[in-house]
Amino acid sequence: MRIGSIINGQEYNEANRKTLAVHNPYNQEKVADVALATVNDLHQAVDQCYETFHQTMKKMPAYQRSDILLKAARLLEERKEDFAETIVKEAGKPLKYSRGEVDRAVQVLRFASESAKHIYSEVIPLDAAIGGENRLGFTKRIPLGVVAAITPFNFPLNLSLHKIAPAIAAGNTLVFKPAEKTPISAYMLVKLLHDAGLPKGALNLVMGEGGEIGDPLVKHEKVHKVTFTGSLPVGKEIRKNAGFKKITLELGSNSPNIIFDDVDIDHVVADLVKGAFAFSGQVCISAQRIYVHKSLYDSFLMAYIKKTEALVVGDPMNEETDFGPMINEEEAKRAKLWIDDAASKGATIETGGERRGTILKPTIMTNVKDDMKIIAEEVFAPIVSVIPFETEEEVVKESNDSIYGLQAGVFTKDINRALRVADQLEMGGVWINEISTYRQDNHPYGGVKQSGIGREGVKYAVEDMTEEKFIGINLNEERS
Ligand code: NAD
Repeated sequence: MRIGSIINGQEYNEANRKTLAVHNPYNQEKVADVALATVNDLHQAVDQCYETFHQTMKKMPAYQRSDILLKAARLLEERKEDFAETIVKEAGKPLKYSRGEVDRAVQVLRFASESAKHIYSEVIPLDAAIGGENRLGFTKRIPLGVVAAITPFNFPLNLSLHKIAPAIAAGNTLVFKPAEKTPISAYMLVKLLHDAGLPKGALNLVMGEGGEIGDPLVKHEKVHKVTFTGSLPVGKEIRKNAGFKKITLELGSNSPNIIFDDVDIDHVVADLVKGAFAFSGQVCISAQRIYVHKSLYDSFLMAYIKKTEALVVGDPMNEETDFGPMINEEEAKRAKLWIDDAASKGATIETGGERRGTILKPTIMTNVKDDMKIIAEEVFAPIVSVIPFETEEEVVKESNDSIYGLQAGVFTKDINRALRVADQLEMGGVWINEISTYRQDNHPYGGVKQSGIGREGVKYAVEDMTEEKFIGINLNEERS
């Protein structure tokens, strides 16, 4: 398979282009060659977006935008297996989770289809100001223009749609730069949206590496908004380069989960195995720090290790596999180094800790300290730490002791305590009696501190993909 960029519906895939190979992270088989875009192609893609925005998208009525998104949802349902298997091959995500990602992506399209018809504005009571009599003022939410969408490898379909679907719902056009590690589902997605009736020039795909194609895209003068999901270092770079553009940054975290002393641990154990090890921990809200009240610590740890060791590790294409490879060997080696570094400073590896190629065994650590990388930084790997605590005050303080603040989980039967702790956690979102790793596609989602800027969750992204324009009318008779 050989794929390329798609600009105005045309594929840029000539034989003389530089290519990048995509390999299956599990068995290293080559899955595709990707023909890379040049900076010239990028300019063409932005120009095409600019043109299609002014000629077509900004005039397209809401019902048409909504219909296109609904048709895309139906097509994605029909093509579910194809997309799921592609995600398995390019990302190494176990089949059951890849299917789950496609199901969520269908919902994102459906939410966006509905949102397109509900972009409301307001009437301003202008007579509230002295001299404002006989004036009418109202706002309109208008699309921005060209949106640059830059996405990561870990949810290559759904996180791309969290940008593309709201941008279309609002009437924008997009240049889409997917992660170079997972470009195939992106390519299939662009084709699908074109098949659903989206004007070809409204969504242009550019293939390439971050520094070469992403960077000039972020700096391009005709781009009105940059929406990025990815790591903190790249997010910082983008923030610096975006200038006056609107910006959404969905970055990393080291999510805490807190288990108080009144919890039935059986359910929590099963949920937190999934929460820490789904897709080998390569999830931005993966459970990284589990704080357990000291009265439950020993029993929790024992049950947690047992359940973790029961995970089916292997080929992500198998239906039964729970746990597969990391995205590449480099990442698996990096994660292993972090484990060894912590162990050399006194941490205990309760289970896991071994690496074979791209597979790093699900790893549980204890006796960790705040300054170890596996606590202080985003591990983005199948490594979780279990930490005892005594008081509510202490656990809130430790949870907040981070540069990140994306999502947390709090487990307790005491509703007053749950709400008190939720209020005190410095996070974009807090789940009560649910793991930090749980996300629905219709709630506001995004971070505080260095976890990001802005919110996704379709309705909230649509707001961020529009500008509020004011129109006022002087109704005094002598003027009309
Ligand atoms: P990454 O930051 O390495 O890459 C993300 C994208 O940025 C890729 O498309 C890459 O090509 C591009 N890029 C790289 N350098 C660039 C530059 N200078 N200018 C413009 N674009 C550039 O991230 P990744 O490894 O693909 O994904 C993992 C990271 O994503 C983790 O840190 C994870 O926490 C984060 N993430 C966050 C969320 C969220 O919603 N908050 C969701 C998923 C992943």
